[in-house]
Amino acid sequence: MTETHKGSCFCGAVEIEVEGAPAEMGYCHCRSCRSWSGGPVAAFILYPKDKVRVTKGEDRLGGFNKNGFSDRRWCTGCGGHVLVYHPSLPVTDVHAATVPSVPFRPAVHLNYAETVLPMKDGLPKMRDFPAEIGGSGETVAE
Ligand SMILES: [Zn+2]
Ligand SMILES: [Zn+2]
Repeated sequence: MTETHKGSCFCGAVEIEVEGAPAEMGYCHCRSCRSWSGGPVAAFILYPKDKVRVTKGEDRLGGFNKNGFSDRRWCTGCGGHVLVYHPSLPVTDVHAATVPSVPFRPAVHLNYAETVLPMKDGLPKMRDFPAEIGGSGETVAE
């Protein structure tokens, strides 16, 4: 059975739907995520690209792509972050807080070398990204 979860921006003008099992969940500690979100760490849920749909208010979405890797989308009405497209990857990053009914089960920390909020939870800590997506594939100590 395929599970579908709904999510929305802060004001509700933009709605999304995600379908099926996430490809990965975790935390990103990179400077870009921190700078954009205003928080010390970002909680992400990655879904296969075709399993994420904007079902309402797509024309309300603003976008910004600083470096090519992350094409960020937010609601132009409320400023709430919605999702991040990754043109070079087969997945789309949905902020965990955007789809609250999806049980958040983080499995990995990314860009932990840049952390400002160490989290000693026993999960693997990647220095940057997994080798499969162009990172070093190295892990670092908590
Ligand atoms: Zn909004
Ligand atoms: Zn990041």
